[in-house]
Order: sequence, then structure tokens, then C-alpha cells
Amino acid sequence: MGDRLGGTPASRAPSRLPRMKTDLAILGGGNGGYAAALRARQLGLSVALVEKHKVGGTCLHVGCIPTKAMLHSADLMESIRSAGEHGVEVGEPKVDWGKVLDRKDFVVAKHYKGLSGLLKAKGIDVIEGKGILKSPQTIAVEGREDIEATSVVLASGSYAKSLPFIDIDGEAFITSDDALVLPEAPDSIIVIGAGAVGLEFASVFASFGSKVTVIEALDRLAPGEDAEVSKEVQRQFRKRGITCHVGAKVNEAERTDNGAKLTITTAKGKEESVEASACLVAVGRGPVSEGLGYEDAGVTVERGFVEVDELCRTGVDGLWAIGDLIAQPSLGLPFPHFQLAHVAFAEGIHVAEQAAGKLQHPPVDYVGVPRATYSFPEIASVGLTEAQAKDGGHKTKTSKVPWAALAKATILGDSAGFLKVVADEDGTVLGVHMVGPRVTELIAEAQLITNWGAYAGEVAALVHPHPTLSEAMGEAMMALAGEPLHG
Ligand code: FAD
Ligand code: AMP
Repeated sequence: MGDRLGGTPASRAPSRLPRMKTDLAILGGGNGGYAAALRARQLGLSVALVEKHKVGGTCLHVGCIPTKAMLHSADLMESIRSAGEHGVEVGEPKVDWGKVLDRKDFVVAKHYKGLSGLLKAKGIDVIEGKGILKSPQTIAVEGREDIEATSVVLASGSYAKSLPFIDIDGEAFITSDDALVLPEAPDSIIVIGAGAVGLEFASVFASFGSKVTVIEALDRLAPGEDAEVSKEVQRQFRKRGITCHVGAKVNEAERTDNGAKLTITTAKGKEESVEASACLVAVGRGPVSEGLGYEDAGVTVERGFVEVDELCRTGVDGLWAIGDLIAQPSLGLPFPHFQLAHVAFAEGIHVAEQAAGKLQHPPVDYVGVPRATYSFPEIASVGLTEAQAKDGGHKTKTSKVPWAALAKATILGDSAGFLKVVADEDGTVLGVHMVGPRVTELIAEAQLITNWGAYAGEVAALVHPHPTLSEAMGEAMMALAGEPLHG
């Protein structure tokens, strides 16, 4: 495997520098890496955290945090647009794009400073530079002494993928990284890929006045979500004026004087060309593993992903891998490993406890991981979709409560969408799926119910405050328990 530093692969290079010894060395300081570092220090280990860019990783610098800051600005635009309906006259809102970006940068900088300070205060040795796994227990960083550790965690994360025939140039063809620093909101934009990243940016740019076209290869938007949720997202996106091509294949892409032009085959087999000032490629994230010595150290790497078991063990003693970098084929889950910040956190904590020999929690329950997409409409879910539950042999029953039935949603002026609960025939809650107002905050209760293995009847007995959006949960559970109040 090649070495991107351009020299002899570090795994074979002789080292004359002195060695640094530590209990735990971590390659990559994103959510996974820094969570592992913090928990390991709490458990009394000495920790070296190697980071080539900035601690906080994708999530803090180009992922969760900056996107949510921009989505909040977009949300304010939407609220102001409808303020008149609520008796607040403020006129048509105007975007100050520079300030949108400044605000986003302020949020990121504040939390970067906080995280850096925290790691220092906890006595974590943050080593700046690109690390390479030189042996299962050694990380080499160019120009520094090798780090020798009893345990090593690989947490080098992921990068934005493109399509083979699209060269990302940062202008006509961009990734999510570029979309965070555009000099202005584009007049029009094509978004390829309707996963969380694609939907969030499509939503932001639509709020800021761009003409947005979404192209998704699978037969629905948000294809990882329950099918009814996808249908509702598509309905609401179309209502917002966003053009959606699902089941569409992108055949060619070219840069034009005005931006980007794609040739696509639509779901109906028609060839069409789509043009816009820019094209955001949001077709998923690939693992950062090339040239880092992982395979030479005995780790199984498949399509760049490090394969691990349910405890994030690589199969090489004392060597774990976590976060966006990993795949877990042996678990036979009904979905790929979630590339989510909170999954990386949970895995980081877990491997640190293993390294310290002080395991305090069971392995990460991947089915129970809450998922959230912060577009307008918001999407949030936990547990099995109806289709996954049926495929898994469950005799399901479902209950669906439309937000339109809730006074709180009417008060907010945002009552499209629903909450859907999927339960087993005995009433055990298997999954909760929501699309609509503020559902990314409501998912916390849903995850407690689902992960605690509650019966719908048990939740039905709990009082939900009125008037809130959370009443939908109470009502759905009452319906599943055979005693709907409003049904
Ligand atoms: P990363 O955060 O990618 O961290 C890896 C770190 O390793 C990086 O800092 C990198 O510089 C460093 N590194 C790599 N190679 C080396 C090397 N050789 N030497 C030293 N350092 C190295 N998830 C959510 O849960 N909620 C969200 O709302 C959300 N929004 C997102 C929005 C966008 C646009 C994107 C792109 C992602 C989003 N995610 C979200 C996903 C989330 O960012 C990732 O799941 C999370 O960052 C994964 O953490 P990680 O530690 O595995 O990897
Ligand atoms: P995620 O992996 O959740 O970030 O989502 C990426 C999305 O991009 C998925 O919904 C994929 O189906 C979609 N996707 C991947 N390749 C293509 C492609 N060539 N054209 C359109 N959509 C794609």
C-alpha cells in the first residue's frame, strides 16, 4: 500500500529517534478518538492522541456542528417568512451570507477552544502530525519520536466520496466541506445523494433561496429511514419547491461556463440533463485508511474500512478501531455501520474501558442508536423500521399519529408529518420514526422507550404534558395498547 507522505512506508523505515511510551495511543482526534482519550484518562491510563489537523475531527470542523449552525440560520429564515401568520410583521427576510458563515465559524471556534482546553486539562498528550501505524503497538509521526503503546486505537475517520467521473474542484463540483465555505449561496444547486448530508444541505440552500434539485439513486429520499418517512420527506421537499429525482442514475457530469451540468437517467428511463450553478456530491463517506499501515499491522481492511467485531477489536491483540473508519460484517446488522458522531463517542468509550481492563458497559447496541437529520422537515428515528422488523420475523403492529392532530403543532404553524411506532405483536416497542417539527429533540424519549424494551402499554400509562409535541408519543402508545384517547 502506498505512503501518501511520499517516502518509504513508515512500517519499513528505520527510526533513530527516541521512543515515547504510553498506555494508550490513538490515531485520530475526532469524536471517536477524543472520547477514547477522555475515558482512558478517567480510568488512569496515560494517553497520546495523534491528530493531523484539529482535534474535534469531521463533526466539529466540517460536519455536525457547522451544518447545524447553518441549518439554524435557515430555520430562522423560515420562521421569519411565516412570522406574519402569527401576528409578527417583520417583512421578507434577507440573507447576509457572510454573517451566516461568521456565526457558523464562531460556534466551531468556541467549541474547538473548549475541547482543546479540556484535553489539555485532563493530561492528554495531543501530538500534532500525521500518524502511521508502524506496528500494532507503534505509531510513527514524521519528525517526532515513535509512540509505543500497550494499546492502540485507530480512529482516522472518513472523507467525502465523489463519483468516479466527477472531479471535485471546489466550485462547480463540491463536497460538503466546500459547501460550508462558499462565497455566496448559489442561485441553483444540484445535490447528488439524499442521505442525511444531502438532505440537510438541500434544505439549507432552499431556505436561502437557491433552486435545488436532489438526485438519489435509490427509489426514495432518506433511503435508510422507514418508507413512510421517506414519502413524507419527499412530499414536503416538493412542496418547498425542491425538485427530487429518485431512482435516478447520474451518467455524466461536466463543468460549464455557468456551473455544472449532469446527464441523468430518470426512474422512468428518460435521459435528461440538469444544470445548476453548483453540484454538491453527497454520496457518502469513505474511510481514511489508505497508506496508514493498517494492513501491514495485520488488520483486515475491506474497501478501505477496517473490519472489527462487536467490541471494535481488529483481531490483532491490543488494537481496536472505531468510528467512521470501521465495518462490522460479522454482526449481520440490517444496515451498514452508522457513521454518526454519537456512535463514534460510544465506541471510543467502550474501547478505552477495554484497554484499561475496566469494562463498565455492554457493547454498543447498534439497533438502538438514534438517528437524526436536521433538514426541514426534520427526521428522527430509533430502532427497526417496519420493513426491517418484518424481515426480522416480527409480527408487527404500528401506530401513526399525525402532528396535525396536536394543538402544539398547530400553534407552531408546522403540523405536516407524523410519529410512527413499530411494535411487536406483544406490544414491545421495536422502533419509533418521526418526520416533522422538532423531532430531533423528541427522539430522546423514543430511544429510552425502545432501548429499555418497553411495552407500549407501560408507556401509555405515563402522563405526557399538554400541550406539547410529546403527546404524540403518548397517543401512539395508547393506540397500540388498544386504548386510544382520540382515535
Ligand atoms: P472523524 O471525525 O473523521 O475524525 C478523524 C480524525 O482523524 C480527524 O480529525 C482527522 O484529521 C484525523 N486523522 C485522519 N488520519 C490521520 C492520521 N494519519 N494521523 C493523524 N490524524 C489523522 N454525525 C452526527 O451524529 N450528527 C450529525 O448531525 C452529523 N452531521 C454531519 C454533517 C456532515 C456534513 C458530515 C460530513 C458528517 C456529519 N456527521 C454527523 C457524521 C460525523 O461527523 C462523524 O460520524 C464523526 O465525525 C465520526 O467521528 P470519527 O472520530 O470516527 O472520525
Ligand atoms: P449517506 O451514505 O447516508 O450519506 O447517503 C448517501 C446517499 O447517496 C445514499 O442515499 C445513496 O443511495 C446515494 N448515492 C450513492 N451513490 C449515488 C449516485 N451515484 N447517484 C445518486 N445517489 C447516490
